[in-house]
Amino acid sequence: MHCPHSRDAARNRRYGTVPVELMIIMVRAGFADTGPARLLQLRVFADTGQVLELRPNCECCDRDLDPASPDVLICTFECTWCRDCAENVLHGVCPNCGGELVRRPIRPARLLVVHPPSGRRVVRPGCAPASAC
Ligand SMILES: [Zn+2]
Ligand SMILES: [Zn+2]
Repeated sequence: MHCPHSRDAARNRRYGTVPVELMIIMVRAGFADTGPARLLQLRVFADTGQVLELRPNCECCDRDLDPASPDVLICTFECTWCRDCAENVLHGVCPNCGGELVRRPIRPARLLVVHPPSGRRVVRPGCAPASAC
C-alpha cells in the first residue's frame, strides 16, 4: 500500500531508536555523517549532563575571554583567569581554593553548539587588575 510518508518511515527504520532531539543536535552541530559511529560519539557528549563551565571573563581583571583562547587558566572548581593574572598576579595558584591553575581545554567548535559557553560572569572582589589592560 502506498504511503505518502514512506521516505520518513524508511528514515525512522534506518535510525532505529535514535531520539529526534539528538538528530537535530547533530545536524545543528554540523555532523554531515550521521552514521552509527558518529551517533555513538555524539551521544557520549550529549548524555554526560554537566560539562566544564566555560566562563566569559577573567575573575580577577574582568576582561572578556574567548572560549577558543589558549590563554585561559582554570582551577579544579572552574575559577577562570586570564594568563596575565594567573601568572603575574596569582602566580599559578587559585586565590579561592588554593589549587593549581592549568590551561583551560578548548572545546571543539562544533560541540559549542551542543554545549555553549557560560554567560555567568564571576569577579573576585579586591583582586588586583593585571597591569596595562
Ligand atoms: Zn585577568
Ligand atoms: Zn579555585
